[in-house]
Amino acid sequence: MTTCPSCAAPIEWEVSQTVFNGRLAWSASYYCAACGDGVMVDGWDEPPDDVREALIAEDGLRRVRLDRDRQQPSRVALMSVFRRRGASLSRASELVAEVASAGLTGTFAEIELLSAQLAAVGAAVVVDAAP
Ligand SMILES: [Zn+2]
Repeated sequence: MTTCPSCAAPIEWEVSQTVFNGRLAWSASYYCAACGDGVMVDGWDEPPDDVREALIAEDGLRRVRLDRDRQQPSRVALMSVFRRRGASLSRASELVAEVASAGLTGTFAEIELLSAQLAAVGAAVVVDAAP
């Protein structure tokens, strides 16, 4: 909860995040019922920290893991997913180990995008609520 910069009435930011054409897109907006003022900001890829925190506060975290009961692509193929997302070689290796064990967590849209990227190299994934 915060206040309207024009009239100081309480306002609530609405945040959203989605996957569009293989990229993350986010938006944050408010409309002040007292004075009619409003703002909408949006952008691509990683949202600002406060927007991401608000998304997690609203929706919680999701988790993606490799399905241990199904055949998975090679380690190299899995690493290529994280390399394309900008991870260094050593970080990509760590992330493959994590997604194969405890899993990786993120917002709904982040995990939707990562799951799709993993599936694109043939991975069988399980997505659930983060513990
Ligand atoms: Zn206002």
